[in-house]
Amino acid sequence: MYRKNENLIAVYPGSFDPPTKGHIDIINRASKIFPNVVVAITYNYSKNHMFSLEERLSMMKEAVFKIKNVKVEAFSGLLVDYLNSINSFCIIRGLRALSDFEYEFQLALMNRKLKKDVETIFLMPDKEYTFLSSSMVRELTFLGGNFKKFVPNNVYKKINKIEKKRRKNV
Ligand code: ADP
Repeated sequence: MYRKNENLIAVYPGSFDPPTKGHIDIINRASKIFPNVVVAITYNYSKNHMFSLEERLSMMKEAVFKIKNVKVEAFSGLLVDYLNSINSFCIIRGLRALSDFEYEFQLALMNRKLKKDVETIFLMPDKEYTFLSSSMVRELTFLGGNFKKFVPNNVYKKINKIEKKRRKNV
C-alpha cells in the first residue's frame, strides 16, 4: 500500500460525550503530524450517552473548525469498516495513564485482527489533562459542579443550554 502521501488520513474515533480539552489536545497534536485527521464520532451502543450524536457532532465541529486539516464525521458499525470506506489504515487514540493501557491494548490488537494493515498510534496529552475524562465532566454536569475549565468554551455554553432546556422539560 502507498502510505507516505498527502492523502494519508488518520482517524481519531471516540464517543466524545462530551468533547473535553483532553480530546482537543490530542486532535491538535495529531493535526501537526498527519496531513488529514478525521474525528470519527460513534454511537457506542454499550454506553449510555448524556448527549445525542447530533449534539456531540456539533460541539466537536465548533471546537475544531479552526484547524484546517481536521474533519468531524459520524460513523456506526465497526471502526475497521469505516476505515476501509475512507481508505485509511491509521487510528489515533489518547493515552492518559496506565489505567487506559489495558483496554487500549486490547482494542488495538482486536482492530489489527480485523484489519491486518491497521496501525494504532497513541498520543499523550499535556499532563494537565491526564486526569480528565468525559465521564468526569458528565458527573460534574449532573451534580451541578463547575466544569468550565475542562471543556472548550463552545462546549461549556452548549452544555449549559442543553441542561437548562432539560430542566425546564422535567
Ligand atoms: P471511547 O468511548 O472510545 O473511549 P472517548 O471519547 O472516551 O471514547 O475517548 C476517545 C479517545 O480519547 C480515547 O482514546 C481516550 O483514551 C482518549 N481520551 C479521553 N480523554 C482524554 C484526555 N483527557 N486526554 C487524552 N486522551 C483522552
